[in-house]
Amino acid sequence: MAKIGIIGDIHGNLEALEGVLAALEADGVQRIACVGDVVGYGANPSECLAVVRERAEACVAGNHDYGAVGKKPLDYFNAAAREALGWTAKRLSEDERLWLSGLPLVHTGDEYQLVHASFYDPLEFAYVFNTEEAASSFSRQTGPLAFFGHTHWPCTFFDGDPVRHALQRVVPLDPPARLFVNAGSVGQPRDSDPRAAFAILDLDRRRITFRRVDYDIGAAAGKILDAGLPASLAERLSLGY
Ligand code: ZN
Repeated sequence: MAKIGIIGDIHGNLEALEGVLAALEADGVQRIACVGDVVGYGANPSECLAVVRERAEACVAGNHDYGAVGKKPLDYFNAAAREALGWTAKRLSEDERLWLSGLPLVHTGDEYQLVHASFYDPLEFAYVFNTEEAASSFSRQTGPLAFFGHTHWPCTFFDGDPVRHALQRVVPLDPPARLFVNAGSVGQPRDSDPRAAFAILDLDRRRITFRRVDYDIGAAAGKILDAGLPASLAERLSLGY
């Protein structure tokens, strides 16, 4: 069955990831692709890494994935992110470190492409919030359909002159334009909706559906506090910001 769950920006939030996996399972979705930032911020980096490693058919590197293994300098990150990355780095096994360092910046398959932030210069991890930033990514996107993350904002950009931005919940495939789609963040949503975000790419019905699912935010936040990580990282989960 050609249904693929698109997940990303999990950020060590196991409760959110498990909520999304259960929703995908309930929908009969077997395949999973991940746009990166498996670790960072949350209290279960290794557990989330194990799930993605086992389940995802493709995964690209996020800035936090590279930050945790020294492939992106820590001074690039804000104070709370830096602290969480230091904490995360200490808990990763050598094997987990190797897996994260080996993640590619771009995945190009027959059905879709993945990049964490922007195709323009993937290692820069530039944010794509607006149509101008999307246009620069489209200039280096080689296929008709690509997924990205990084902003933690679910949305779709349609290539063209001008590039268009849309928030619709269902996006048909085969439009006249190429697509650059952000499924939103599993583990740290920032669009004021605290529910875990993901998307389902349905290649048979030719559409992408944006989804949200409730999860045990209190448990995930409690673990962040128990771990001694910055309290702001726990508080923002229930705010969805
Ligand atoms: Zn992220």
